[in-house]
Amino acid sequence: MATLCSRFSIISRRISTSRIFATNMADPLEHATGLEKRELLARVAGNDNPFDFRVLKRGPGTRDCPNQVPSSFDSRLVGCICEEEASSIQWMWLHQGCPRRCACGHWFQLVYKAPV
Ligand SMILES: [Zn+2]
Repeated sequence: MATLCSRFSIISRRISTSRIFATNMADPLEHATGLEKRELLARVAGNDNPFDFRVLKRGPGTRDCPNQVPSSFDSRLVGCICEEEASSIQWMWLHQGCPRRCACGHWFQLVYKAPV
């Protein structure tokens, strides 16, 4: 038994680590082009939600005062959480100039927003 233990020895591995310095990394704003650059410029200007992806709070949502949904396109897919405890979302397409009523009774209207 003693010879068996002496035959196997514990092998230790050494790990080499080094720090990575990010001093040579360029500013992403200098390398970005196109839509990404416009998004970064909007964020620099203080607009942290340039594409309006955040959840909007519903207003009264009546036919005369519909919920305003911004869009730079002719149509936009909108999801309505009809009740606070709802486990599903009512999806519908909104088109410019055609206010639409959700199944829960709230009205939605697409409003034009200048593109980023
Ligand atoms: Zn709804």
